[in-house]
Amino acid sequence: MRIYCDIDDVLSETAVSLCELAERMFGKRVAYADVRDFNLQRTFELTDEEMRRYMEAAHAPEHLTAYAPTPGAVAALRQLKAAGHEVEIVTGRPSTAWRGTQAWLEKVGLGDFAVTYVDKYGRPCPPDSNAPRMVPLAELLARHYDVAIDDSPIALKSLEVWHTTCVFVFDRPWNAAYRPAANMTRVKDWADILAHRLISGAACPVLYGCGKFLI
Ligand SMILES: [Mg+2]
Repeated sequence: MRIYCDIDDVLSETAVSLCELAERMFGKRVAYADVRDFNLQRTFELTDEEMRRYMEAAHAPEHLTAYAPTPGAVAALRQLKAAGHEVEIVTGRPSTAWRGTQAWLEKVGLGDFAVTYVDKYGRPCPPDSNAPRMVPLAELLARHYDVAIDDSPIALKSLEVWHTTCVFVFDRPWNAAYRPAANMTRVKDWADILAHRLISGAACPVLYGCGKFLI
């Protein structure tokens, strides 16, 4: 199977770290469980200039490499790859964050996985001639993945058009109000994802209804 796997808050505990960063930089204290809005500028009530500085700090290699891996994520990806699945890391981070991203992946033992940077959010990316290409969202959506795992309500909304893809909604406070589409299944953690028999590639919940199985 071809599998799309997001990074932030799917592979790494990014929001916890960003809550700490907002408190350190601006004295804004919001607990992880209270991050109900995917828009961090609104969550932390930051001005445009504060938000610019916040994102610059958040994408610096020293910050990106400090993220804790999400429990079970690294072992799950290693198992999926060992079982012969094509796992691609598909992130909405700006590709200018590639150094820190790659350093973190190597640090946690995922340095051999392909990373695709996608403009999931229509954000301008500062020029960096060394940065990997940012794939436009429309180009990503024209591709096919058997399985996709993401937590962002904005990204998930885009993935609603992938009718033959099994999309896992990784449970986070900011997507609690998001109503998964017909091609989606909400999961609470990596054990929950693997319980859908992904490693054997035996079955995909979104396809149960039409009796199809991914072998
Ligand atoms: Mg994410």
